[in-house]
Amino acid sequence: MMTVTRFAPSPTGRLHVGNIRTALHNWLLAQKAKEQAGGRFLLRIDDTDVERSREEYVEAIRADLAWLGIHPDGEERQSARLEHYEAAFAKLQEEGRVYPCYETAQELDLKRKIQLGRGLPPIYDRAALAMSDAERAAKEAEGIAPHWRFKLDHDEPIMWEDGIRGQQKFDAAQLSDPVIRRADGSWLYMLPSVIDDVEMGVTDVLRGEDHVSNTAVQIQMFTALNAAHPRFAHEALLVGSEGKLSKRLGSLGCDAFRERGIEPQALVALLARLGTSQPVEPIADASLLVETFDLGTFGRAPARFDDEELARVNTAIVHGLAFDQVADRLPAGMDEEGWLAIRPNIEVLGDVADWWSIVTGPVDQPAFADEDRDYLRTAAQALSETGADWKALTARLKERTGRKGKSLFLPLRQALTGMDHGPDMASLLPLIGADAAGTRLARAAG
Ligand code: GLU
Repeated sequence: MMTVTRFAPSPTGRLHVGNIRTALHNWLLAQKAKEQAGGRFLLRIDDTDVERSREEYVEAIRADLAWLGIHPDGEERQSARLEHYEAAFAKLQEEGRVYPCYETAQELDLKRKIQLGRGLPPIYDRAALAMSDAERAAKEAEGIAPHWRFKLDHDEPIMWEDGIRGQQKFDAAQLSDPVIRRADGSWLYMLPSVIDDVEMGVTDVLRGEDHVSNTAVQIQMFTALNAAHPRFAHEALLVGSEGKLSKRLGSLGCDAFRERGIEPQALVALLARLGTSQPVEPIADASLLVETFDLGTFGRAPARFDDEELARVNTAIVHGLAFDQVADRLPAGMDEEGWLAIRPNIEVLGDVADWWSIVTGPVDQPAFADEDRDYLRTAAQALSETGADWKALTARLKERTGRKGKSLFLPLRQALTGMDHGPDMASLLPLIGADAAGTRLARAAG
């Protein structure tokens, strides 16, 4: 059977690293299924909250996913599906599975406080369900429009086999009937999501464990709509290295990663495996992550997001990027030879510019002692004989001056690059070229 997954963000802000991880895992699950019985990954924009949803966020979500290489097979929008919700609602109303409520937010709050004060769980008392027609009419006459709750079936134990958490069981009587529709007619997330999952043929709902109790309620909604519920899997939440879901992590998105020079492949490689028993590795080829993706390896402990681990994965990935993967982000004039010479010395791609400026010059040379100036004069002469061949040049100088080790190599590196460390000189010298190198050596010799 075909696997259909979805990522369902509300466009009320930018994606953060937690959302990105959920999107990625749903995408990986569908990609893996593509190689077997077939898979589809949907982007569903949960934009029923008109006040807080913004078009700019919808666009940013699409752009962020594209940057990560996560390409949906289809996109849906809840705001375009209101008649579907209306139809399902009418059916549920007919069957007595939704009921109108008139309590104000303050009244509900007070009820909760009283329950908690008595040591009772703050479960909605279904007072509205007990109202008579006359009482309801009186509320309406006062101009109070109802909000709506879904009536849970208290006789039906709620159970499912969670793809990550294993067997789950809830007692419906221990849950509040969820509000599904506001007094102004707008929808809360819970019911539209179920209707969409049914109508879009979603087979697998993979989301954060903060949704576990929503799942309990939604399972009864699937049943009420005469539909089988999808498979559910709830992943442990992402926490910062300090051990909790920090504010920082909750607002850390693609822009911030990009600014830090993090490659999308690095973020994907880290998030694909974080919280699983598989090692995080600098895997730039997403198909390898698809192949090895396995919900069975997900643990129940919070997944720790560590910036330094990301930086390490990123550097390893940068070191493996081919010229054609980065060509359009390299300094003008830098060719494949230049990239391969400089690549091992950078941590983030942005570091390339500094190294490349060493090739193109001018370089900032240190002042040399007399003895080294003589040596560098000899080096300029030797270079005119050997050309830009580091091995030949240093062999000749060794022979001619008797220098070896540091005293042979360091003054050359300093004169040619202005630095004590850097890319392999054998790769760098041909890039600098014999002419520019000769000029630099002569200038250093004074
Ligand atoms: N819009 C919901 C959210 O962002 C979707 C949750 C779900 O995956 O069902 O929390």
